[in-house]
Amino acid sequence: MKRHRRSTSPPSRTKKRRALPKGTHQNVWERAKAQLAKASALTKLPPLLAAHLGAHDRIIEVSIPLEMDDGRVEVFKGFRVQHNNIRGPYKGGLRYHPQVDMDEVKALAFWMTVKNAVVDVPFGGGKGGVAVDPKKLSNAELERLTRAFARRLAHVIGPSIDVPAPDVNTGSETMGWIADEHAKHAGVHTPAVVTGKSIAHGGSEGRTEATGQGGAYVLAAVLHALGKKPEGMTVAIQGFGNVGSHLARSVQAMGMKVVAISDSKGGIYMKSGIADIDSIERYKKEHGTLSGAERGAADISGDEILTLPVDVVVPAALENAVTNGNARRIKASVVLEMANGPLTTEADQILAKKGVVVIPDVLANAGGVAVSYFEWYQNIHHEQWKKDDVFARLKERMETAADSVVAMSKKLSVPLREAAYVVALERIRDSE
Ligand code: NAD
Repeated sequence: MKRHRRSTSPPSRTKKRRALPKGTHQNVWERAKAQLAKASALTKLPPLLAAHLGAHDRIIEVSIPLEMDDGRVEVFKGFRVQHNNIRGPYKGGLRYHPQVDMDEVKALAFWMTVKNAVVDVPFGGGKGGVAVDPKKLSNAELERLTRAFARRLAHVIGPSIDVPAPDVNTGSETMGWIADEHAKHAGVHTPAVVTGKSIAHGGSEGRTEATGQGGAYVLAAVLHALGKKPEGMTVAIQGFGNVGSHLARSVQAMGMKVVAISDSKGGIYMKSGIADIDSIERYKKEHGTLSGAERGAADISGDEILTLPVDVVVPAALENAVTNGNARRIKASVVLEMANGPLTTEADQILAKKGVVVIPDVLANAGGVAVSYFEWYQNIHHEQWKKDDVFARLKERMETAADSVVAMSKKLSVPLREAAYVVALERIRDSE
């Protein structure tokens, strides 16, 4: 039986630091536009297409008045941005977080267009969310909020129009409420209107693990291209939600050693490796914190985790985690971007100069949307694939995507991010 207690052996630096350094926020949509401009030049993209991709097809902002359990009324802001549908229906997650705003959603929608093309699924890009702290709402309030949001989006989503999915603080239950509400509007039950549903409601086997598992497949492929073996390499993961926790399990299965994990409240560091991710997850559910989850592990801050002496560092929480404030202190030789947009432009440049290999978000975390595509496909064709089958298809898709990005990077002598954008833009251009 594991005993849970607070650490008595902290690492050399234990001073708590803000998870996201003050004053380093970068407007993510400005960053996304700069990335597009760079890749458009490399691809010699026709100006009309470049202009098309530099703007959004449709931007939706709604207000959602909600009666709270105690009778008060609060009004929340909801967003859905449909960036581009040249390659298929708009596709991307819905995020519930107090920091959700239009610029963030615009950037995330654009990155979905790129990501879906990198992993070669027949979708365009979309994203949405509600500016809300879901931890402050009861489950009944969350359900009413989600159903009201779904009613406002009912006329602009659908299996061949726009297909939302889970993202930060949303999950299969949220998707179930949306599918149910949409069925009332459409007069017909169409589970393919959302992905990331529970299996009972038409979800796919393997969707929950898909983003983390897909990231591990990509990491293995890139390490192979670099001539490195994963066995024994150490990994630190910022963010212990859906993505971070499944990534932890998947890299452990590859023989890597997860030595540190963190969430929004802080993290733990265990030099000899964190053995049992399931028990850590159970502890976090019970106690609401990672602190004390592993016997002998040291408490660390959310930012500190990024600068530990490890081989691979994984930002798997939110945007702007690595900035010019902490990029120079990163000691890992590989950064696997499981979050969307975790590196600012300056951080990207600093890491490139240091020779750190950055595996970009649009490749690293595309496993989620790859299995979302499988789920959508199964719904439309009334099929139900087995988990092994889903993972085999996911592995093949992620390895193929990683190989094409690595090959483009070598061909153009550019970092993996630029190579991924070129692969995506060429596919979008060829689909027009
Ligand atoms: P989640 O809500 O399940 O988990 C988010 C985790 O990040 C939580 O553990 C939270 O405590 C932690 N966190 C929040 N702020 C933090 C901070 N400042 N420092 C450290 N940890 C912090 O969300 P998720 O689905 O795991 O998504 C994580 C990231 O992955 C997001 O950027 C999301 O857009 C991206 N992503 C998710 C999917 C998916 O399938 N869920 C797919 C692609 C990309």
